[in-house]
Amino acid sequence: MSLPAITLRGLTGLLGVSRTTTRSLTRGLSVFTFHDVTDNPSPFQTAADVATPTEVFRSQVEWIARTFDVIDPVRIGGSGSLPSNAAAITFDDAWSGTFTNGFAILDELEIPAIAFLNYCGVDHGVDATALAAFERGFEAGFPDMSHRHDRPADPDSFRAFQGELVSESTINVWDGHPRFWFGSHLYWHVVSIGAKRTELEESYQRNAERLAELDNSVRFVSFPFGQPGDHFDDSHVATIQRLGAERLFSARSRVNRGPLAYLVDRTSMPTGDPSPGQALMNLLHRELLDRLGRTR
Ligand SMILES: [Zn+2]
Repeated sequence: MSLPAITLRGLTGLLGVSRTTTRSLTRGLSVFTFHDVTDNPSPFQTAADVATPTEVFRSQVEWIARTFDVIDPVRIGGSGSLPSNAAAITFDDAWSGTFTNGFAILDELEIPAIAFLNYCGVDHGVDATALAAFERGFEAGFPDMSHRHDRPADPDSFRAFQGELVSESTINVWDGHPRFWFGSHLYWHVVSIGAKRTELEESYQRNAERLAELDNSVRFVSFPFGQPGDHFDDSHVATIQRLGAERLFSARSRVNRGPLAYLVDRTSMPTGDPSPGQALMNLLHRELLDRLGRTR
């Protein structure tokens, strides 16, 4: 770890303890991303670092709720002003524990959230990223559109490796809830870079058709993987906007400062460390490293 990174880790650890200090650093909109919430992660989820244990999740969302002004995510699509330290809770992918554990805990705490779903997982039981890791290894990287129709040669072994995806009936149980919403993570869980425009359009439209069956769907889209430049570019943003999405979400970790852009940035929450310092580190590291670098 570099010296600025070590300094930063110590700094955010101290700062995270104080609500006032944290709020002074996070004016704007902070959008947090989770994936699965489970105490029994699959081999894929462990390796991909997408499973948050239930008690870690509970303490993280409790910290978010007492530190920030948590808003109903739907407000991000509107033009009204947001609280000075707004935060929103989001989930990506289509994991079962997102709903059976994550939504259940948020329901108990009365905290609103949105889940961005890939319907390929719901319809076919296949997350393309898990399948790529299963068939070709993690070192092969994230799959692109050419792998969107891949299916496992050994479905049972693959399912045990992948972990449990959400069923339509579980989604229906939560549909209609006053605080929970469903958005799109596109139909296939693959990178958008390299996709033909028609392929990206199909991935958007297929998912939109499935989401339209729900009462609580909103036209928000989060790009799979979500790093601008690496996983999608401006042409993909333009395509999705033209197709009618009201907001797009990236995984560029930072607070959204000032008036909201069409592309809203989100920050992944750490899966193992429940301390506020680690969450703040994820949220602020880009800006703070920049400042430390400038003043040295
Ligand atoms: Zn994803």
